[in-house]
Amino acid sequence: MKKLTYLLSVCFLIFSCEKDESIIEEDFSSIDTEEISKDEIAKIASLNFNTSDLEMVDYPNSEGGLEKMFLIEGDILMSRSRLEELSNEKLTKQYRTYNLVDNNVKIYIIPRNAPDFLGGTDRVALTSKQRSALTRAVANLNALDIGLTFEIYDGPGLISGRQIKVSQRPGAAGGIAGFPDSNGNPFRNVDIFSGSESYSLNVNEHILTHEICHAIGLRHTDWNTRQSCGYNNGESANPEGAVHIPGTPTGYDSSSLMKACFGSSESGNFGYYDKVAIEYLYPSN
Ligand SMILES: [Zn+2]
Repeated sequence: MKKLTYLLSVCFLIFSCEKDESIIEEDFSSIDTEEISKDEIAKIASLNFNTSDLEMVDYPNSEGGLEKMFLIEGDILMSRSRLEELSNEKLTKQYRTYNLVDNNVKIYIIPRNAPDFLGGTDRVALTSKQRSALTRAVANLNALDIGLTFEIYDGPGLISGRQIKVSQRPGAAGGIAGFPDSNGNPFRNVDIFSGSESYSLNVNEHILTHEICHAIGLRHTDWNTRQSCGYNNGESANPEGAVHIPGTPTGYDSSSLMKACFGSSESGNFGYYDKVAIEYLYPSN
């Protein structure tokens, strides 16, 4: 039902900008073979249209000339500029919180390894799979060209400095973290839920990389809709903030590691624009 409502609203937006309501009756025999880019196909798909019979047609414009338009699902016309506008409205970009971690610092990543190490009674040590996933998550971050460095600290004892403590907690597959504070520190805890154990190492790597990225200030790319979860209800932007990160695209980015929800086939690796986003926020010198 949500999808239907959404499609109707999109159709309204498309048709409301047309002056001539007879467009559905037009003859499209002049279909040409101009190539439609993969990026354009992805943008159209992200608006929940079927792209299997997508075509490019010449359609008469109000000046008496012809305008190239997408013909979608056989009866919907959309100009290139309108596609761009609709894609921008989807807001699946990269976003950061107002607070960030100070750049050019080392962040210790500390797996729970002692009963008194962390607050809360339901946090336990990582499983061996989760510990391997954490090693990969830290490698993902250290492979970026950024000012931050990450180091796993297994003890013994406490250590000072900026740190994120990583534990397992009871729950369904997934994880939880918070955002940086106003003093340049990452969020202090990352937790991976016990249900994650039944998923692959790659999925566990995805979860821990994702949560550590929250702890250094990244928000979900689809925070405003949680589209990746099948919702059309987003998270609120504030008080943490949802600031667009320059250099990251509009349009749906299915490869992002920062989508709100994940699937069982995640690679655990950053998408291209995840890297662009983090390298923008924490430039190396
Ligand atoms: Zn998240």
